[in-house]
Amino acid sequence: MILMVNNIKILILATIISLAAFDGGVLTAHPVANNLIAINNLKSSQMIQEKKCNKCGVVKLINDFRKKRSICKLCDKEYNLRYIKTKKGLITNIYNNQRHNSIFRKDPLPTYTKQQLINLLFNNPLFHKLYDNWVSSNYDRKLRPSIDRINDYKSYSFDNIQLVTWYENERRYYTDSKNGINNKQNFAVIGINKHTKDIIEFHSMNEASRQIKTSQGNISDCCKNKRKSAGGYIWKLKEHNG
Ligand SMILES: [Zn+2]
Repeated sequence: MILMVNNIKILILATIISLAAFDGGVLTAHPVANNLIAINNLKSSQMIQEKKCNKCGVVKLINDFRKKRSICKLCDKEYNLRYIKTKKGLITNIYNNQRHNSIFRKDPLPTYTKQQLINLLFNNPLFHKLYDNWVSSNYDRKLRPSIDRINDYKSYSFDNIQLVTWYENERRYYTDSKNGINNKQNFAVIGINKHTKDIIEFHSMNEASRQIKTSQGNISDCCKNKRKSAGGYIWKLKEHNG
């Protein structure tokens, strides 16, 4: 049994070595991979590939590089952190997030290109003002320029976006949700009065909790049939307002 296990081990090791050797051969023959050094680690008899970072000049393991990148992950990260703080980098990041969020929400993609957004913002004095404030605040997250949709139920288009700070964007989202203007994260509920059977309706459990002065958790539990009533009402989910 032990012998068998050992045999399998040896076989696997031999396969790894032959694969690695083959890989190394292909890579050295390729002109792009000139800075790729394949060395033999005699200790483990495994092939370890290393590459010199074009930025910091340090020779690092191949795993320390993203695929097809000539600079190491660490230098890559530093570069991205610096780029994201430039005007162009910031807009690129905003645009990529808009695309990503639209796909995530299954909404239509922004109706403009990244370059069109860059042009729009570079021609807007408010963008430069917000950007300067953000830089002088030492990149305070709350002051980061941000793009808000005027109508959250419509997708990103030039007639539905406005430039704000990240903080204003968050605050508006919160107040709109509280006031029932934006119910994307809210669950509308119906409450049936235990005695009078009167029906009341709220745009969210939080709003019901505020108005009826009973805990939101109890209303939620009632909707899940975990308790019979809360604050004198039997609660049911109206439907998820998408
Ligand atoms: Zn590096």
